[in-house]
Amino acid sequence: MRKIAVVGTGYVGLVTGSCLADLGNKVICVDNNEEKIAFLKELKMPIYEPGLEEIVKRNVERGRLSFTTDLKKSVPESEVIFIAVGTPPKENGEADLSTVEGVCKDIARSMEGYHLVVEKSTVPVQTGERAKETIRGHVKKGVEFDVASNPEFLREGSAVSDFMKPDRIVIGVETEKAKQILTELYQPLEVPIIVTDIQSAELIKHASNSFLAAKISYINAISKICELTGADIEKVAEGMGMDKRIGYNFLNAGVGYGGFCFPKDLAAFIRICEKLGYNFELLKAVEKINKNQKENFLQKIEDALWNVKGKTIGLLGLSFKPNTDDIRFAPSIDIIKGLLKDGARVKAYDPYAMDKMKDILKDVEYCKDAYEAAESSDALVIITEWSEFKELDLEKIKQLLNNPIIVDGRNIYDLDKMKELGFKYICIGRK
Ligand code: NAD
Repeated sequence: MRKIAVVGTGYVGLVTGSCLADLGNKVICVDNNEEKIAFLKELKMPIYEPGLEEIVKRNVERGRLSFTTDLKKSVPESEVIFIAVGTPPKENGEADLSTVEGVCKDIARSMEGYHLVVEKSTVPVQTGERAKETIRGHVKKGVEFDVASNPEFLREGSAVSDFMKPDRIVIGVETEKAKQILTELYQPLEVPIIVTDIQSAELIKHASNSFLAAKISYINAISKICELTGADIEKVAEGMGMDKRIGYNFLNAGVGYGGFCFPKDLAAFIRICEKLGYNFELLKAVEKINKNQKENFLQKIEDALWNVKGKTIGLLGLSFKPNTDDIRFAPSIDIIKGLLKDGARVKAYDPYAMDKMKDILKDVEYCKDAYEAAESSDALVIITEWSEFKELDLEKIKQLLNNPIIVDGRNIYDLDKMKELGFKYICIGRK
């Protein structure tokens, strides 16, 4: 049993803290957002993540998980301190590390005895060195510490199971002691642990996310070629994915990637490389294809309706992917803004993300379900592949729509079935 503090109680921090508590550790989750901490103390979840509520409740009841805004008090009580605060993009794409720096200073000032400070947030390579210098500059004399990197690979929507059953755990350390603490902490998960130096661990995270984003842009580019030639992207992806060297994952053509990780991590990685003197042109093309994919999708909607001005669009799915309420950098935002700018009226529905979207896009009408979004709309647009959209009564949808038009950004329906039902069905990379 280790005593742990997790600073930053967001998607990553809350999942990390509650899962580490579930493994038998005593964890304090710290956040400077008082409302969030008050909410959690009442056992209410500030985010939607399958399985999270149960794990939080169980561990609070067992006295292994607590929540606080008091970092100063939490640090001396914790041997291991994870930093899981946000690293948002600056205007130029670079990661804004001011919160990480501020937290390092605050942690350092409260440190007593030995502490291991672990970067969990996604940070540029060489941040560990900066964190170490910052802590050294603010810590009391004689206090020992180590800094380590332990990047997180969980996916929103399956974050708890990803944390508990990851493909691998990456640990970047400089000392035997830090290695021992972190390997022991993760040993109960019985998964491969790769131990590296700190820079390599930091780089593994950025290199992995960029590679996955590249895979998405690659298949999206191929979907465009399918549209130009009459080939079918679903078949092409299947045939590619059967090759074990390629694999099926991340070969779903769509409206482009979004979320709090890929767009910002790619931009940050490109910037780091530029600073290091390397022009990462491949990743710049990945970004460009992603931007084009959203624009192309908007064009498909416009083409389907001839003009969108004065038309009503029913839109399904706001979160950047299914099973999460996260709308940060969601493709839906750019697509809706484009539709509104061109004079369309948008009626949207999402099972979990509407509350968050209401704060950002006020000119959208939010509906109670998919059928209400379809009712008297001139077309139905699908942006996020929530499983409930796959189960819709399409006969009913057809009756409710003004025109039987579905523009599907996720290829969730069968082409023959849609033809049989009499829909004009426009999707990605399929005839
Ligand atoms: P988030 O915005 O959900 O959570 C960050 C939390 O930190 C917020 O609750 C915020 O209130 C808190 N915070 C900010 N400043 C603070 C301070 N000074 N003291 C205490 N708390 C503070 O972000 P997230 O999605 O959890 O991402 C956190 C990091 O993890 C980022 O670097 C991200 O790139 C990385 N990451 C995210 C995911 C993901 O799927 N979301 C996956 C892997 C890695």
